[in-house]
Formats: sequence, C-alpha cells, structure tokens
Amino acid sequence: MNKLRLKDIIKTPEVVGIGNPVDVKGWVRSRRGNNFVQFIALNDGSIVTNLQVVADTAKFDEELFKQITTGSCIHVTGKLVESQGKGQNVEVQAETIEVYGTADPVLYPLQKKGHSMEFMREIAHLRLRTNYFGCVLRLRHAMAFAIHKFFNDRGFFYLHTPLITASDAEGAGEMFNVTTFDLNNIPRTEDGQIDYKQDFFGKHTNLTVSGQLEGELGAMALGNIYTFGPTFRAENSNTPRHLAEFWMIEPEMAFYDIKDNMDLAEEMLKYLIQYALDNNMDDLQFLSKRLQEEEKGKKEDEKSMELISKLHFVLEHEFVRLTYTEAIEILRNSNYNKKGKFQYPVTGWGIDLQSEHERYLVEKHFKKPVILTDYPKEIKAFYMKQNEDGKTVRAMDVLFPGIGEIIGGSEREADYEKLLNRVHELGMTEEQYWWYFDTRKFGSAPHSGYGLGFERLLLFVTGMSNIRDVIPFPRTPQNAEF
Ligand code: ATP
Ligand code: MN
Repeated sequence: MNKLRLKDIIKTPEVVGIGNPVDVKGWVRSRRGNNFVQFIALNDGSIVTNLQVVADTAKFDEELFKQITTGSCIHVTGKLVESQGKGQNVEVQAETIEVYGTADPVLYPLQKKGHSMEFMREIAHLRLRTNYFGCVLRLRHAMAFAIHKFFNDRGFFYLHTPLITASDAEGAGEMFNVTTFDLNNIPRTEDGQIDYKQDFFGKHTNLTVSGQLEGELGAMALGNIYTFGPTFRAENSNTPRHLAEFWMIEPEMAFYDIKDNMDLAEEMLKYLIQYALDNNMDDLQFLSKRLQEEEKGKKEDEKSMELISKLHFVLEHEFVRLTYTEAIEILRNSNYNKKGKFQYPVTGWGIDLQSEHERYLVEKHFKKPVILTDYPKEIKAFYMKQNEDGKTVRAMDVLFPGIGEIIGGSEREADYEKLLNRVHELGMTEEQYWWYFDTRKFGSAPHSGYGLGFERLLLFVTGMSNIRDVIPFPRTPQNAEF
C-alpha cells in the first residue's frame, strides 16, 4: 500500500491530478481566516513546505474549528485544486475534516515561530515537529542512507562491531561502565578490589568508544569494511562539538596506505555533500534562510558563508594536505599567535592541536578544508603506523570550517615488533589486546582507516552550530531526559 504523503502532492501535483479527490493527514502548523473561509497549514513531515487546506465554513460545524489548533492532528478529505492565493501552486478544498487529536493552545509549547534552540532542547520530544528539526532529521536520514550507498557502491561490507567491549586502555577514563552489579553491594576480592569475575561477563566491560579495533579484524578478512554505529564517551566536556553518545562511521581498508586513506575520506565527504545538494535542496534552502536571519545582526566579517554556497565551495576545492610540522610553523608564526589571540598559545612542536588552532588553519589561513598528517606519536594512539623519523606517526585528521576535526584516522602499524614496542612504551601489555596482535602475527597486511563523526558531518551540512541540535535526543553531561 502506498499512502499519499504531502510531498507527493506538493512536488508532483500533476501526478495526483488537479480536480481529483485527495485524502491527507498531518499536524496543523497554523489556522487563520474569517467567518466564511478558514485556511489551515498542514504538515506531515514528508517535506518542509506546508499544504494549504481551504475550508468553507458553511460546510462545517462551527465547533470543529476550535479544535483545529496549532499542533493538532487532522484527517482531511477533499479535492486538489489550483491555488487562488500566493505562496503555493495547489491547495486542498476540504469536504470532510476529522480531528484525530487537538492540542490545547494554552499548553502546547510550540505556538509561535522563532523559539530559541535552547528552549527547544527542553522540549526535545516536541521539537521534532518544527520545520527546523524536520529539515535536520530529513538530512540526517539522507546522510545515513548516502553513507551506506557510498560504501556499498564501492564494494565495502557493513560490519557490526560490538557496543559492549572489554578493551580497556584506549581512551581510558572516558568510558561508561557496563555492569549488572548491585551498586550498593559490589562484590570484592580478598584484597578489596572489585571482583569483576562475578560480573555478567566475568570481566570489566564498558560501552565502546570506537569500533576500530574490531573493524581491523574485519578488514583482514573481507578487505574493505565499514562500521556505522553509536559510540560512547564519558568525556565531561560541555562543548558544542561533543556528545556522550554519538554515531561514528569507521571504514577500514586492507592494502590502503595513508594517501589512499586521504583520497577516500575526501571523496566520501564530497559525495555526501553532493548527495545533500541533489536530494535535500528544500531542506537546505529553509535552513539557509533561517541562518541568514539569525546572522542579520552580525558584522560583515563575522558572518559565515551562506550554507549552500559553503557546500558548493567544499565540492569545488581540493582539500589542502600538509604535515603537522608545517601546520605548527604556520600557527606559531601567525599574527593570531603573536598577538596572543589563541586561548592555548602555540609554543612549538609537540603540542596537541586545539579546535581553535584547527579552525584557524581552515578558516583564516587556507580558507579550505585541510588534511593534517604525520602527528607526533605522543599525541596519537598506539596503533598508528610509525614513520621512519622515529617521532611521528602516519595519522590524518580532516579539518572543516566551523567545526575543526571531522575525521580522525591513520595508516595502521602492521609490523608486529613495532606495535609491541609502542604498546610497551605506553605501559600497556600484549595480553590486553592478544586478539588484535594476532592480526599482525597471522597474515599481517598494510591497511588504513578512519572515523567520521556523523553529527560533526551534520553540523557542517545543516549549518547548525551546536551538536545537540543535529541528533534527535542528545546525551550530554547532566542530560538524558528524553
Ligand atoms: P576531538 O579531538 O574533537 O575530541 P577525537 O580526536 O577525540 O575528537 P577521534 O577519537 O579521532 O576523536 O574520533 C573520530 C571522530 O569522531 C572525530 O573526528 C569526530 O568527528 C568524532 N567525535 C569524537 N568525539 C566526539 C564526541 N564526543 N561527540 C561527537 N563526535 C565526536
Ligand atoms: Mn582524533
């Protein structure tokens, strides 16, 4: 059964047929009119544009209209006609109206347009019904679909990696524990330690911070794989770019070196942006208009580039590729640094780059997306391929305007001895990752991969400025209501 949705009527009225009967259902955005005629703006979530329903008051019981309030849900049958008014091509001349559920105008919180984002986060269960979030959620869907399509079309296999893991060391301190212990009565060993042997899995477990390590196992069997699932980080950072629960895409490819890895990342990002432009133009135009209204008060040089031009801009330019060492020189010698404009001054080689540094490179210096490579090994994970210089690893971070890091990846260390040495240097043991080390013992292969933060991608594509506004139900410190 294929039910008619408002998108079909608005986009292809000729298919539905002017003069033909239609049957539509949706939520009322607004109602206005007079004693003779009432105009109802209806939306069913399939498209940002509302459908206008015109009701001749003589045909209906007066009491009916009192129930057709903003936020109420109705079922209309009638005829599709060409619109008399401006703003739409077609409208529905109502013959019957059934109210599924009214919404009390005193209590329904989404009465007027232009509520603040902060306010809408407090009503995340209802904000999904706003035009704003409709656009974001349709784009979120489109991007998820396009990611699967991108990888599927290139012969990658979707691998499901576990959400509950026992690997302990990577990102320690940032993980959520998983346990079935009664927290008021935790079993202890004789020497007072928590006795994880008695826990559900017989060992200490946590929610995963990345599917990469298992992803590598998949790449060593299937060649090219990708994961796409939720990841969890208990980092207590209240930034506009961090969530405690976010979605990550992690491709992992056998026989890819760092250059192949960069090429794939750039191709993928451009593909996704092109997909949004090709399939979600209505949503992008709506978001762009809202953003421009918000920016009206700002000074010229503080305004950001118009959303759709910004997306085209990324498509039309090659990403700048440079090493961490080169980037440090640029930053250190920048006027910004000399004038003390960075919160974290760039003192020299070895420092971890902050978001402000990444954004300086992208927004002020190159004015293009940047891929930074060859970071000091001290600030990167143990599994990255070590360079001949003994100081740097073959890491790559993709930096985007307005965001900073959108992708983090690397060529992986394929050499068993080198990997073991690095693990020992970091005070870790092979036993913790014995299964990971097995890939380097048995048929090791050069390989690479990266992680794309799904919500960071959405920040860019939607032009939103806070990551809490590109996921339906954000999880952040002190916030898990909905
Ligand atoms: P950052 O330095 O921005 O905190 P990271 O270096 O910890 O990120 P990675 O471990 O490399 O991030 O994870 C890969 C990608 O996942 C990042 O490039 C980013 O897009 C995304 N990401 C990381 N942490 C978060 C988070 N807390 N919320 C949303 N996305 C995240
Ligand atoms: Mn990173």
